[in-house]
Formats: sequence, structure tokens, C-alpha cells
Amino acid sequence: MDKTMNKIECDPSCGFMVQSHDEKEVTGMAMSHAKNMHKMDVSEHDMRKRMMSV
Ligand SMILES: [Zn+2]
Repeated sequence: MDKTMNKIECDPSCGFMVQSHDEKEVTGMAMSHAKNMHKMDVSEHDMRKRMMSV
């Protein structure tokens, strides 16, 4: 069983953070956050580059 969590943090001034075992969930939530809160379209590819394992 893989216990590694994937995590994406937004800008520290924003404070948004999402983490899950499911990396698609993490990238998906981070992408909708960027779009809704920051009017930024970030590709899944770019989000994956910001993803960390914790
Ligand atoms: Zn944010």
C-alpha cells in the first residue's frame, strides 16, 4: 500500500494547500483553485511540476 501523499501549495500569501493520495485529485483541485481564486489557467502538466511528495 502506497502511503505517499501528493501535495500542492499555492502562494504563501494565499495559504491554499491541497494534499491527497490521489494525484489527479490534487492537480484537479489546485487547477480549479487557481482558476477560481486567481483567474489563472494552469495546465495539468505545470501543476504536476509543483506537486510534492510528503
Ligand atoms: Zn491560491
